[in-house]
Amino acid sequence: MSMIDKVAVVTGATRGIGRAIAERLQADGASLVVCGRDAARLKDWEQSGVVTVKADIADPDAAAGLVKTALDSWGRIDILVNNAGITRDGFLMRMPDNDWNDVLRTNLSGAFYLCRAAIRSMMKQRSGHIVNISSVIGVTGNAGQTNYAASKAGLIGFTKALARETAQRGILVNAVAPGYIETDMTEAMADKHREAILQQIPLGRTGTPQDVADLVHFLASDRNRYITGQTIHVDGGLVI
Ligand code: NAP
Repeated sequence: MSMIDKVAVVTGATRGIGRAIAERLQADGASLVVCGRDAARLKDWEQSGVVTVKADIADPDAAAGLVKTALDSWGRIDILVNNAGITRDGFLMRMPDNDWNDVLRTNLSGAFYLCRAAIRSMMKQRSGHIVNISSVIGVTGNAGQTNYAASKAGLIGFTKALARETAQRGILVNAVAPGYIETDMTEAMADKHREAILQQIPLGRTGTPQDVADLVHFLASDRNRYITGQTIHVDGGLVI
């Protein structure tokens, strides 16, 4: 039970990858604080003793409130997983300001707000693990996803800078870049597009939320003593 006595905050844990990450950490004994915007799905978590916060992480006050709730409830934060994210796909020429701003605010500013709020307590305790969920799209780019690619590439740079800024205080900061993972986010994709991506995955299958959760669990655990500032792909070899 490697996560006993660890307190983990996971954003966007009502569904998909965030839910799998929170379940993986909980299975190993972590005390959890999870957030999302879907009250009904948060109720499911409450039933297993998890502290839940209904919060829009794109709102700086709500993000700070989430961290405050975690500190008030458990007294410390050992692990912060910035997972919550959205897409608003469309070609640049026709992209409305809102689609650009919503994606940047949620995917990139959200992680900034959460890290800023949590970092002081991690610095004081001289330990902590932060894992930011980026995407292979932040590395390769993708037509129709300039907003999403910018947000996910931004997270990679943010991760490197924060890793340098906090290393001397024993805080390790990493990013995970999933490839094609089966969740609500990818469900809307047309079969033709999905098939084309599948052809490019050397391991011959799409990923599961658990594939991502296992890596996040390792990066956030005390077994990770010497990896910081890195972006690790979980993509079946899609980007090699
Ligand atoms: P998903 O199934 O759409 O789930 C997204 C989660 O984020 C939900 O729990 C949602 O909660 C939460 N969320 C979204 N906006 C939020 C906000 N403003 N405030 C709080 N919570 C918010 O997506 P997913 O596929 O699991 O993706 C999780 C992360 O992995 C995202 O950052 C995504 O970009 C990244 N990723 C996914 C893939 C993939 O293939 N699926 C690939 C690369 C990277 P509510 O609905 O309760 O608001």
